[in-house]
Amino acid sequence: MDSGDSDGLAAARVQLVSYSARLLADGLAIGSAGNMSVRARDAVAITPSGISYAEMRPEDVCVVAMDGTELDNGETPSSETPMHLAIYAATNAMAVVHTHSPEVIALSASRPELPAIHYAITGLGGPVRVAPYVRFGSAGLAAAAVGALNGRSAVILRNHGAVTYGRDLAQAYDRALLLEWLARTYRMALSYGEPAALSAADLDEVTAETRRRRYGERRGAPP
Ligand SMILES: [Zn+2]
Repeated sequence: MDSGDSDGLAAARVQLVSYSARLLADGLAIGSAGNMSVRARDAVAITPSGISYAEMRPEDVCVVAMDGTELDNGETPSSETPMHLAIYAATNAMAVVHTHSPEVIALSASRPELPAIHYAITGLGGPVRVAPYVRFGSAGLAAAAVGALNGRSAVILRNHGAVTYGRDLAQAYDRALLLEWLARTYRMALSYGEPAALSAADLDEVTAETRRRRYGERRGAPP
């Protein structure tokens, strides 16, 4: 398959390999667990199933249509391809990151959501819900993940891991790191007793102020 890179797929393949190495280095997954994808027009580049991140090459990355049809002769696409496609269909996501990171998994087994104990959670849309357990790779898991996203850019999958999305892979990945950091911070707070959480009004205020400052930056206003 060779059509230049007018569709951005070649760039997406390289980017996915580079971020896969980071996934291991940052402790967000081990071996070949977890998976990532990037949307390029009407196709999705997604990491392959069963190839360790340490050995993955750009040509191993799979390409599927939005309905799941495989568009190349490469490896088998990630078992969670249905979940990635369901998120693209339900949101404005341009990249999706699925991790098996320890802090969110520990939380998922014990709590119904990650509460807002730090205002940075506004970067994910607010408190992050834990979706009910459904077997990996199933249409049921895809539906559960989309249902629990609802207004968030992150969802925790009970006894499994987490999913984040963003306007590009860098943003989706940063959100995965943020989510893991928030889960770790929450666990530390729990060691003192029941932590105080920010209210919806507190979070709305942070979101409004963040927007106001971004708007100021675009207009070239002083910090
Ligand atoms: Zn998984």
